This record gives sequence, structure tokens and C-alpha cells, in this order.
Amino acid sequence: MQLTDDEIREILIRQRKQKKRRQRKLRRFVLLIIAVLVIVLAVGIFINRDARINSRGIIFIDAGHGGVDGGSKVGKRLEKEDTLALSLAVRDELESLGFKVCMSRTGDEDVDREERGKIANKKNAQLFLSIHRNQASEGEGVEVYIPSKNDKESRMLGTNVINALAEQGFTKRSVRVGTLITEKDDYVENSVPTMPSSLVEVGFMQNKHDNQLFDGNLENNAKAIALAIEATFDAIYTEEE
Ligand SMILES: [Zn+2]
Repeated sequence: MQLTDDEIREILIRQRKQKKRRQRKLRRFVLLIIAVLVIVLAVGIFINRDARINSRGIIFIDAGHGGVDGGSKVGKRLEKEDTLALSLAVRDELESLGFKVCMSRTGDEDVDREERGKIANKKNAQLFLSIHRNQASEGEGVEVYIPSKNDKESRMLGTNVINALAEQGFTKRSVRVGTLITEKDDYVENSVPTMPSSLVEVGFMQNKHDNQLFDGNLENNAKAIALAIEATFDAIYTEEE
């Protein structure tokens, strides 16, 4: 079969186009491979970073109340807002100390009281701190409740937290076992977690001095609580190894 010059030219052009298409495909393939490698590398670095945070330990911070449950209310002050503000600040401090922090809520959410301990158990948290504020017409300072079984570790956590806040200027009340009513019962926040736990009442909402200490010294209070948790964690877990 004889081909005309035009036909030969057409064939050559087609062949060149095909070659270019193949080259483009190859280039796209190489780019895809590079992208996959970059993603794999990035995920690897991320997991590594996460593992490093994990290696220090897992702390559960429970911001008391939330959503429809406002907690105590004094004037415009809502307990659920105070507990969240302090809890978030404590989380930041703990993370900067290298801990992984799990929380019952990070916004104004409804969280069942029992659910808080259950989440902590599921997350394998190693220490549990529930943050609240007190309400009574009279009263000043910080109070801590630990589980009725009065275990050494929970007592250590509660004692370290109350001492840390006393150093920030709060009146030191006491570390109490059980509930306000009886030493034999537990607040749900202390009965569900399977790890050492405490519930801290950071000052009274009717007390001006407590509120000043709470609002005006939030970062330092958070740092103090985080350091108290760190000391407790190290005493319980690091020295065992
Ligand atoms: Zn409360």
C-alpha cells in the first residue's frame, strides 16, 4: 500500500501525539506516587507525635455540668461556664506538659453525669478530675471530694490539687470522702471512673474573693492544677516502672 506524503505526515503527527500522551500519563503517575509518599510520611509524623504525647499518659478533665444543666447560678454567673473556662485552660497546660487530655465536653454540651466516667474508662484515662464550683450562702475556698473507698491515689490527687490552689490564694477547706451528705456514698463523677479520681469545687460562686481569684488568676490556677496532676501522675505511674 502506497501512502501519500499527507498520510505519512498524519501518521507521524498521531504517533507524536500518542507519545506525548504517554509521557503525560507517566508524569501524572509519578506525581501521584510522590503525593502518596508525602501523605504517608505526614501521617507517620502525626502518629509519631501522637504517640509521643501518649507516652506521658492520659488525663481526663471533666468540665462540670453543661448544656441544659447550668449547675449553680449566682446572678449572671453560671457554674457550667466557669468550669468549662478553667477546664480548657487546664487541658492546655497539661498538653504543654506532654499529656494527652480527654474531656467530657469542650463546649456548652449536654453530657450525662454517668457518661463522663464511662468515657474516661473507655479512653483508658489514668487520672480523672472533675471541675466544679461551690454554692452556699456562706463559705469560702476550695473543697475536694474523693471516692468513698478512700483510695490512696485519689487522696493524693485531691490533696495535691487543693494544696496547689491554696498556693494561688484560695482558702484551703478540706479533702472530703464521699459526698457532702455521707462518707459512704459517692458523687457519680467519682464512682464511675476506674482510675484515681477527684472532684474539686474551685471556690464559692457567692464569694467575691473566690470569684476574683477565679477570674483574675485563671491561667495560674490552671497551671497549678496541671502541675498537681503531673506530680500525682509521676508518683503513681512513673515510680512504679
Ligand atoms: Zn457543680
